[in-house]
Amino acid sequence: MKIEDLKTVAILGAGTMGHGIAQVAAVAGYRVFLRDVSNEILENAKGNIRSSLERLAKRGRLSEKDLEAALSRISTTIDLKEAVKNADLIVEAVPERLDLKQRIFKEVDEAAPKEAILASNTSSLSITDLAKAVKKPERVVGLHFFNPPALMRLVEVVPGEKTSKETVELAMSFAKKLDKTPVFVKRDSPGFIVNRVLIPYLNEASKIVERGEFKVLEIDSAMQFKAKFPMGPFLLSDYIGIDIVYEILRVFEEKLGPFYKPSAPIEKLFKEKKLGRKTGEGFYGYKEGAPKVPEDAGAVFDVNRLLAPMINEAAKLVSEGIAETGDVDTAMKLGANLPEGPFETVKRVGADKLTGVLKELEKKHGKGYAPSAFLSSLKQ
Ligand code: NAD
Repeated sequence: MKIEDLKTVAILGAGTMGHGIAQVAAVAGYRVFLRDVSNEILENAKGNIRSSLERLAKRGRLSEKDLEAALSRISTTIDLKEAVKNADLIVEAVPERLDLKQRIFKEVDEAAPKEAILASNTSSLSITDLAKAVKKPERVVGLHFFNPPALMRLVEVVPGEKTSKETVELAMSFAKKLDKTPVFVKRDSPGFIVNRVLIPYLNEASKIVERGEFKVLEIDSAMQFKAKFPMGPFLLSDYIGIDIVYEILRVFEEKLGPFYKPSAPIEKLFKEKKLGRKTGEGFYGYKEGAPKVPEDAGAVFDVNRLLAPMINEAAKLVSEGIAETGDVDTAMKLGANLPEGPFETVKRVGADKLTGVLKELEKKHGKGYAPSAFLSSLKQ
């Protein structure tokens, strides 16, 4: 199949991600079938798509005519066969459970056209494992959008072990047609690029608090106002959801090793169901509005203490053949809104300085902090 032949898209799951992906596909001119398990969820999703498009129209990014045309290209259904029978590309965005996603891929495999591409929006499951559910694993690919899909420009394109080059190329071209920036993740690996770099950084911040070295506000203030991140790691953990952070860390711990074990403060909040903004309490309380992070609270915290382990994680991706430096930089800027990519920070701060911080941490807290082969090779 060529990208010009790709015309009809099925999105399975109309939740946070599914409705947003359906929206961007419809705006890009695709015929979209959106499927979920109840008509009520689908009605709600269509309502959300309409209000999101209206907001874009108000800002002048979409005409009234294009808004109505986009909406008219979306059909909703609770019937899986109906949704996929004419689809050239299927994107699943159902809850993050391997058994559920495999079952759905198996059903899709039987009901969709033979040539159709089967894409998953999974954040942490293995594409290779998902592909085991279908007869032609070469047609399966990870197409990882970021939340909200209508605004976030990044899409990580992830091949499984058996994914064909043609499938990867189609997935990359499709992302570009949606006006997104795709980055190629060379090898299926837990957390792909953005989550692999970002989530251990949140865990690291929490380990510093656990060890009694600095306080939440000191770290958040330093990362926001000195490192110029959009927000500090604790505010971000609350924003993403403590349950999501915890569950991704558990996958990393299992697949990558004990260094990634969720820190005690994250585990405690998870067990107490203090999941961040959505439950009204996490590292901060939200009942009286958003927390205020004072600009001067971070004076004592050296941001390299967090930047060095985070950049080391990015460098491990390069050492392990998972991604190229330029793609890691693009992914972290577009997927995590960082002011610069990790390897741009290396250029600015100097590899020697960062490996120095890591060696100190390695001495105090163990081998997990050892500078990666790639970061060491960058030393002046
Ligand atoms: P969600 O819970 O908001 O939505 C999932 C939807 O799937 C629900 O509406 C549910 O009713 C529906 N569903 C359940 N079983 C179904 C079935 N058999 N067929 C069709 N629909 C079914 O979840 P979400 O946050 O949109 O996440 C979906 C996927 O996207 C997950 O794999 C998640 O890891 C990934 N993801 C989420 C985010 C995020 O920030 N929320 C970001 C990137 C990727």
